[in-house]
Amino acid sequence: MIEKTLILLKHDSVFRGLIGKIITRFEETGLKIVAIKMVWPDEHLAKNHYFLDAQWAQNVFDKTKAGYEKDNKPFPYKNAMQLGEQIQKWNIQFLSEGPVVAIIIEGPHAIEIVRKMVGSTEPKSSPPGTIRGDFAMIESYAIADKNARVLRNLIHASDSQISAEREIALWFQSNEIHSYKKELDKHF
Ligand code: ADP
Repeated sequence: MIEKTLILLKHDSVFRGLIGKIITRFEETGLKIVAIKMVWPDEHLAKNHYFLDAQWAQNVFDKTKAGYEKDNKPFPYKNAMQLGEQIQKWNIQFLSEGPVVAIIIEGPHAIEIVRKMVGSTEPKSSPPGTIRGDFAMIESYAIADKNARVLRNLIHASDSQISAEREIALWFQSNEIHSYKKELDKHF
């Protein structure tokens, strides 16, 4: 039940001065920050982070399609892998354009809770109260597509136990991850 998850405050958060506000939200839940650093990713790290496989491409394809359908816009893509490759390319470019803050958050149900706080991939569809909904609501698939770039949605969070383990190993050495007690721990 006690899980670790990786978040990245992407450079749009850093350049907009939102680091403190976003971190505060996680701290206020009682979840624990067990590792934190600023990294300017190179293309190799960015490519490994946004690892392209058939399942990820299909997932991106389905979510993008749903976004277009919601706006009653014709969906121009036919092939999931083709869209996946395009989005991976944009992600590599975006991630390596500036520094990100990489954080490991630990606690009961951390993966699910953090994803819920982050919100939907498309900020326009992300409810108020979520990080993407509160700080990036005016961003949409339509705008990203028009400008041939990624959705600027401020933050990445691991979406499963398997991706959390893979991503943590990618961004942190084991000696950068700390173990300590917080007040709330005695209740878990
Ligand atoms: P999430 O970050 O919500 O887990 P994904 O893993 O599906 O989303 O996608 C990774 C990132 O790729 C997203 O956060 C977003 O920045 C970008 N992205 C996904 N789909 C699109 C799209 N259709 N157009 C532009 N950018 C996209």
